[in-house]
Amino acid sequence: MTGNPWENALKQLRNACDYLDLNKDLYEYLSHPQRIVIVNCPVKMDDGSLKVFEGFRILHSNARGPGKGGIRYAQNVDMDEVKALSMWMTWKCATVGIPLGGAKGGVTCNPHEMSQNELERLTRRFTQGIINVIGPEIDIPAPDMNTTPQMMAWIMDVYSMAKGATISGVVTGKPVEIGGSLGRTQATGHGVAYVADQYAKNHDMKPEDCSVVVQGFGNVGQYTCTTLKSYGYKIIATSDISGGYYNPDGLDIDEMFAYINDPEHRTLEGYTKAKKISNKELLELKCDFLCPCALENQITIENASKLNCKVIVEGANGPTTPEADEILNKNGIDVVPDVLANAGGVTVSYFEWIQDRQGLFWDLDEVNKQLETILKRAFDAIRDLKNEKKISYRLAAYLIAVQRVAKAVELRGIYP
Ligand code: GLU
Repeated sequence: MTGNPWENALKQLRNACDYLDLNKDLYEYLSHPQRIVIVNCPVKMDDGSLKVFEGFRILHSNARGPGKGGIRYAQNVDMDEVKALSMWMTWKCATVGIPLGGAKGGVTCNPHEMSQNELERLTRRFTQGIINVIGPEIDIPAPDMNTTPQMMAWIMDVYSMAKGATISGVVTGKPVEIGGSLGRTQATGHGVAYVADQYAKNHDMKPEDCSVVVQGFGNVGQYTCTTLKSYGYKIIATSDISGGYYNPDGLDIDEMFAYINDPEHRTLEGYTKAKKISNKELLELKCDFLCPCALENQITIENASKLNCKVIVEGANGPTTPEADEILNKNGIDVVPDVLANAGGVTVSYFEWIQDRQGLFWDLDEVNKQLETILKRAFDAIRDLKNEKKISYRLAAYLIAVQRVAKAVELRGIYP
């Protein structure tokens, strides 16, 4: 797959700054992350050997509030990826108007080959390594690819032990028993589905007439599928590391959800009630909605002109390259961008952070109601700007986000 995510992120910022004719000092400011921390984490493996894992925590901007963003564990994690993801978090929080900045973390490792004990030791050691740059007022981690509520509990524990007090607001996406929010696990997928449905409502598309392809059946993909299904959409294909699964009459999402969450399986490998297809075939299926909910750089110059969907709703961060965006624009395929489409996760993280700080917890209806209010407001503002300026959804979202961050930088001024 082509494309360096950081170069893509810079191009997207450049496009927005050019369109806004933004003061060049602001581009200079925003095109650099504020802080990069790299830690090498020695971990005793179960077989007695020692392995050192490289980890990153990058704060792109705290102009609008403390840094916010997940931590991912994957083999291809590197500095440029984490830099891009941290910048995207800045725009995401600004797009939906929550008072947080952008940050991201990652550890280069293969979590599928590690035991729970090894993952615990790694998580605790990584937390110790970044302990001086995280905190409820500084930078608040959360789950991302291959990280879980349990890992957030370990992060909270290490931080709290070091500070001598239980500080639940240092991390979000925790289990509810220790200060997590109801609805957080479902939030990103819930948001993707809700935003897709807003798009449908604005384009006279009826759920029962719409077919959906969801690339990725991890946390985001699973809840995108279950929520869209509950709205009446037909999910015709999904995928995970074991490949793509297709049924033109609609997949049995509940069954697949149970299958993958069965500890005996953990992937869709061996699921027989759908036709097995490749990732390439999956992306090129004829459908109404294509929701890439896996990795960056999935829709590129190589496949953009071969897509057969009406609209793309980006559940993943950075799944479409800037070059592919141009092709899709020309071909009349709308792209509802990541900074809006997958912002449900960080929005409920924001609610979790508020609840922790207040020590007062909301019921699920309250969480979902507030989530939908925020996403609808953001969707409507982006749609109106898009229609007014005759630009793409992505550019409209970026114009709103970059202006908000630039304004904060301008008002605060440059220290000292
Ligand atoms: N990792 C999620 C994202 O990419 C959530 C971040 C958060 O909740 O802070 O948006």
